Amino acid sequence: MIYIHIPFCKQKCSYCNFHFSTSLNFKDEMLSAMKKEIFLRKDELQNKNLNSLYFGGGTPSILSSDEIKSLIDEVLKYFTFDSDIEITLEANPDDLDKNFLKGISDSPINRLSIGTQSFFEEDLILMNRAHSASEAESSIKRAQDFGLENISIDLIYGSPTSSMEIWKENLNKTIALEVPHISSYALTVEPKTALEKWIENGKVNSPKEAEQNREFFYMKDFLKDHGFDHYEISNFGKPNFHSKHNSAYWKSCKYLGIGPSAHSYNGNEIRSWNVANNQQYIKKLSFNTLPKETEILSQKDQFNEMIMIGLRTRWGVDLSALKEKFNDEILEHFQNESRLKLEERILIMEDNHLKIPDKHWFMADGIASDLFIV
Ligand code: SF4
Repeated sequence: MIYIHIPFCKQKCSYCNFHFSTSLNFKDEMLSAMKKEIFLRKDELQNKNLNSLYFGGGTPSILSSDEIKSLIDEVLKYFTFDSDIEITLEANPDDLDKNFLKGISDSPINRLSIGTQSFFEEDLILMNRAHSASEAESSIKRAQDFGLENISIDLIYGSPTSSMEIWKENLNKTIALEVPHISSYALTVEPKTALEKWIENGKVNSPKEAEQNREFFYMKDFLKDHGFDHYEISNFGKPNFHSKHNSAYWKSCKYLGIGPSAHSYNGNEIRSWNVANNQQYIKKLSFNTLPKETEILSQKDQFNEMIMIGLRTRWGVDLSALKEKFNDEILEHFQNESRLKLEERILIMEDNHLKIPDKHWFMADGIASDLFIV
């Protein structure tokens, strides 16, 4: 699996702390550097037959369809595509005009992940999104008209500009648009974002946890009633529309991350990440140097990661895999920490998998961190 991070955005959303630049001045140099990185790292994946290629960001749809195709062509110089490969492009609604969609529909891209976030103007203004409420809706219809059926949309709940009524309407519109996959996150206030500043200055109210909780549970039941499988805490898919890219992350598969700030994982104990700086990334690659740092994950790190990822999914933590991978000391810690939670039914055991029952799923991160080795 390969992930390609496109580090450019039109404007800065108020809640976002990802790596990107709003200047496109060095776009061509960036694309050349990424192609060089693909070449230099082609042998890090022994399996040359890919089942997932993912363009994330930033905003990949800020590139032209020809620029995106040229990156795909570069990947195809060193890899082949599985017959049912999933090639996802993250796209913002304001970029999905007819020209762009025509280019994309003529490419191997077969899945769009659209940053819709909300169908309501007030929410979008607070989030400083570059698109309007009407574009949120029309972009999805337009993509479907171009034959792109495998669409995921991102939705954000718990915004201070929203309410249960608005949230219900967002979900109703989503169902009416017949998208087969939804990724949905609570609005969180990240450090050093505009949203944090506005809340500190009293310009905007803080998101309310109780309200977010209510909206999450409403969504969970509502989407289940409409045929969606809630397969990860933030992800819902119709049968056969689970994201291969996300699933590979959760199953700790090997992946190669290309582009500034992209992470890679060898499927075992080595993780690396590229420098989160566009200029440094370009410069290092111009000298044929990889702009990455590497760390060897300790047993403790691997255990904590396996617990965190597993408890966020419907499948839970596979105890056989846990026993195979970790020493007696870690397994004893795990048994001691999970015992009380099992008695209190905050955790349950099913088919040798440790899971969080539905009603406590909203607290998955907190429950997982109670089991961590610190
Ligand atoms: S478009 Fe995405 S990556 Fe860019 S600022 Fe907005 S949320 Fe962040």
